Amino acid sequence: MNRYGWMVLRAYLPALIALALAVLAMGWTTLFNHNATSNGLVAYAKWIPPFALLAALVAGLLSTLRLWHWKNGKTPRCRGCDGPLGRLHHDPKGDYRKCLACGGKQQD
Ligand SMILES: [Zn+2]
Repeated sequence: MNRYGWMVLRAYLPALIALALAVLAMGWTTLFNHNATSNGLVAYAKWIPPFALLAALVAGLLSTLRLWHWKNGKTPRCRGCDGPLGRLHHDPKGDYRKCLACGGKQQD
């Protein structure tokens, strides 16, 4: 995979994880829907897929917006490789952002 492919994968990874959680929860509730011993759990677990799908949608839209702003030059870029920067991470040594292209940390 080339540099751009890894960058897109890093950007959309939270959305992909939420989507996988939704699919797993849908499968689990479908498989155990008629099992009398787990009916109590299914009543709560049936709410996981809609919220996970909503989280995947929001995470995907935010990633798309971040990459779109990066493409148009409206967001800070990595000093090393000019790639887009991820969300702000808080650390006792200082706040930083990770580059989605090279993975390097950059202090704010
Ligand atoms: Zn970089």
